[in-house]
Amino acid sequence: SRDNVKGFLKRNLFVLFTVAAVALGVLLGFALRPHNLTLREIKYFSFPGELLMRMLKMLVLPLIVSSLVTGISSLDSKASGKMGMRAVAYYMVTTLIAVFIGIVIVVIIQPGRGNRDSPVSKSGNIEPIQATDAFLDLIRNMFPPNLVEACFLQYKTVYKKTVHIRNVTVSLNLTESLNFTESDLNVNLSRVLHTIQETVVETVPMSGSSSGVNALGLVVFSMCFGLVIGSMKQQGQALRDFFTCLNEAIMRLVSIIIWYAPVGIMFLISGKIVEMKDLAEMGGQLGMYTVSVIVGLLIHGLFVLPLLYFLVTRKNPYVFIGGILQALITALGTSSSSATLPITFRCLEENNRVDKRVTRFVLPVGATINMDGTALYEAVAAIFIAQVNDMDLNFGQILTISITATAASIGAAGIPQAGLVTMVIVLTSVGLPTEDITLIIAVDWFLDRLRTTTNVLGDSLGAGIVEHLSRKELQSQDAEVCNSVIEE
Ligand code: ASP
Repeated sequence: SRDNVKGFLKRNLFVLFTVAAVALGVLLGFALRPHNLTLREIKYFSFPGELLMRMLKMLVLPLIVSSLVTGISSLDSKASGKMGMRAVAYYMVTTLIAVFIGIVIVVIIQPGRGNRDSPVSKSGNIEPIQATDAFLDLIRNMFPPNLVEACFLQYKTVYKKTVHIRNVTVSLNLTESLNFTESDLNVNLSRVLHTIQETVVETVPMSGSSSGVNALGLVVFSMCFGLVIGSMKQQGQALRDFFTCLNEAIMRLVSIIIWYAPVGIMFLISGKIVEMKDLAEMGGQLGMYTVSVIVGLLIHGLFVLPLLYFLVTRKNPYVFIGGILQALITALGTSSSSATLPITFRCLEENNRVDKRVTRFVLPVGATINMDGTALYEAVAAIFIAQVNDMDLNFGQILTISITATAASIGAAGIPQAGLVTMVIVLTSVGLPTEDITLIIAVDWFLDRLRTTTNVLGDSLGAGIVEHLSRKELQSQDAEVCNSVIEE
């Protein structure tokens, strides 16, 4: 049995390290809080965590491209088509279920009932971002005109505001990517304008772009590229080999970085705990809102998704979840599902033995568009804001929220607090005031971590489910490869 214990420790060494790192991080964070560190000191202190984020992000782009190209080109087009359909069906169904759970919970708990806790000033006649523009941006981002640019730029509509101040016409360009500083500027601007009694004359959308990786564009390109290379037979062999080799090399880098992950996670978590505001503001409506999101995420992540996995595969979902624990903790620490992607890959392939042809195909897509946690949160937040505003939503409006919350979760990048930004689409679609997003900012860093964890869980269980459903195609592909080797 000593060998057993040894074996267990060896297999779970990383997981144990990671869990210990979280515990230590929490302890360290709370121990340092009373010392009232300055922001600069906190930044220095969390530097090892920042390094982990940077290392993971560094791997994401080549990982997405190489894994998708390799994954898709190694399947015949029929098999990849079927697998793709299954993955998309899974993403859609689970995202809609998540939205549904969110709506039911927020309607039952009613966190926004009663008098408004903290009034937010109205921003007058500033026109908010249009849902249509946001939707068009989503599609534009699928087709990046410049691939290199897509690695660091994402397309965002820019609004041109023309304002008359004392007979002087001023034109302002605002990227309503609603980067928070920019939206704050927007609100402040309206206050200034109000005090000097002037009006905004027009707000017109123009084209423009802002920073942030356009993962969606890269995913679309890599999939098409993979399909084409796959259909090129012998001619495409050199490219296939290149991307397979690149993919393998990146995964080896992941194996090295993974040793550093527990240290980074510890500092990410303790740094955040030192930095966070007092929990006092968690009382009242905001507290109930937080509870609603958490309850929804728990139901979806711990019951609904595992049940679905069990129904399809007849295997124990919690054993599967045990295998991806490290990815889940990394998601909690980084609040970014794309930064977690390298770890998710490793957990699924090494611990859960999911077929590489499946992970390479579905994980990059999942991390980019499948965000159950984000969708659930968007629905809860929008209805919470309606409740706070004493607005009764009819069935049609709730349906609109479900659809736009799904779209907003697809459009959200897998980076920290992206969901808060795409919230604007949901709010404007039913005429809710976008500046009320400020009501929920205080707790968003925390909910972001939890919804990111749910997002990663959904992607991973999805890979397991798609693998199970595609076992026939995978086997026949194996047989083909065997036959051709024998022939040779
Ligand atoms: N941070 C989330 C993620 O990376 C996205 C969001 O803000 O909801 O999955």
